[in-house]
Amino acid sequence: MQIGCHISIGKGLEKAANQALELGANAFQVFTKNPRGLRPKKVDVKDAAKGVALCRENNIAVVCHTPYITNLSTPKEDLQEVTIRSIVEDLHIAEAYGAIGAVVHCGKHVGEGEEYGLKRMIETLDLILEQYDGPTKLLLENTAGQGTELGLDPKTLMDIRNATKYPEKIGFCFDTCHAFAAGQWNEETFEDFLQIMEETGYLENIEVIHFNDSKVPFDSRKDRHEKIGQGEIGEKALQKFLQAKKLSHLPFILETPVAKEEEYKEEILYLHDLRA
Ligand SMILES: [Zn+2]
Ligand SMILES: [Zn+2]
Repeated sequence: MQIGCHISIGKGLEKAANQALELGANAFQVFTKNPRGLRPKKVDVKDAAKGVALCRENNIAVVCHTPYITNLSTPKEDLQEVTIRSIVEDLHIAEAYGAIGAVVHCGKHVGEGEEYGLKRMIETLDLILEQYDGPTKLLLENTAGQGTELGLDPKTLMDIRNATKYPEKIGFCFDTCHAFAAGQWNEETFEDFLQIMEETGYLENIEVIHFNDSKVPFDSRKDRHEKIGQGEIGEKALQKFLQAKKLSHLPFILETPVAKEEEYKEEILYLHDLRA
């Protein structure tokens, strides 16, 4: 099973891949560029090729995450334009890194209402995907439903995907913490939730799992990650994800709070134990 964590891209992809090996991770995630900004980034092509080769040799899955400050549902023309330009670039960067996909958060309607937000999100997705024809998928991540965030549940996410002109270019990144905080699942309802994921067609389009515990309670609509087994979701509930046969082909990526990346080494070992 592929289990890993978020790793800094600060010193390049080859360095990040070596760090993954060091941490015992056979999957990892990096940001395409500074997550708090949208400044264009030039990829070091040589470094990327070395990193991709190293990952291939060691059967390591790479996932990219796009910056947080884009908004697929923004009513502002200038922010929509920047969002489109930035995410198209992210898809090219993710491709250069040999990534499965580029993760993007669903839109925020910022007071314009859900209906408007979803319509605008679909429009923005079409404008992005008409400009990208490569092998890397855009992975929509489910949200915790904080503020005016859209895309909390499998059905809505599938509806968004199906309403675009390019559903085949869209996959999903499922975050356990966000779904718990959005009131989608807990220990008691895990099996029912898995069934909903399957029946809606969502499950077969998941490409990566963000595996996080939650600092805040069920249905609290806040996005606060916690180390596995130390939060409100708990070890037993999260173990169900690790042991689900229908999810065992997917990379599980930790985005849990750490002071230093080295701490992930222990948490990855713990996940392998929890799975067994
Ligand atoms: Zn996440
Ligand atoms: Zn989160």
